[in-house]
Amino acid sequence: MATNVVFLGAPGAGKGTQAQILQQQYGYRQLSTGDILRENHKAGTPLGKAAEAYMQRGDLVPDDLIIKMVRDALPPSGVGIIFDGFPRTIPQAQALDEMLGEMKRGLPQAVYFSIDLGAAKMRLATRGREDDNAQTIHHRFEIFESQRDALKRYYADEAPSRFTEIDADRPLEDVTQRLLRALKLRPSPGVAS
Ligand code: AMP
Repeated sequence: MATNVVFLGAPGAGKGTQAQILQQQYGYRQLSTGDILRENHKAGTPLGKAAEAYMQRGDLVPDDLIIKMVRDALPPSGVGIIFDGFPRTIPQAQALDEMLGEMKRGLPQAVYFSIDLGAAKMRLATRGREDDNAQTIHHRFEIFESQRDALKRYYADEAPSRFTEIDADRPLEDVTQRLLRALKLRPSPGVAS
């Protein structure tokens, strides 16, 4: 059965980049809650409108909206999903376990991308997304730090053998190699070793 993977880590830790690599080369499906919210915002949907103010402030969008959104976006069983930017809170993590259980999928594998927060802030400041202004960035990191330890503990305690911490300050290719090892995947020809 395809594994599901949860990517944890600070904004700017490179989760999205690594998720893209796994999607393009290993058949995983990236499910980025931030991307789905931005698409909804662009399309002017009720969800996009409800989430807008939170996103602009760098606050978390309420759990009930996010959980419903993820439930609606889940691909059929059989496809391995990378949850990128979700869960961000313990209730979201619990809801995810429940959803995966209902779909007869096992507990997710969790990867924590650890990065120097100063470096991550610098990355965001040069990325230039709408919510990448100094004030919002500061607040997003505050929120990340307030949830980080509880989330790491949740996954490390739930299934210690399925929790991996990766040093995401390393070059992109090294991080990919480490990730492939954690997920027990063979390097593909497209991934430099
Ligand atoms: P991201 O693209 O992951 O940095 O997310 C951008 C913004 O979307 C965040 O600052 C939050 O406002 C919102 N967001 C994304 N994912 C979540 C989530 N799992 N829970 C709550 N809010 C989220």
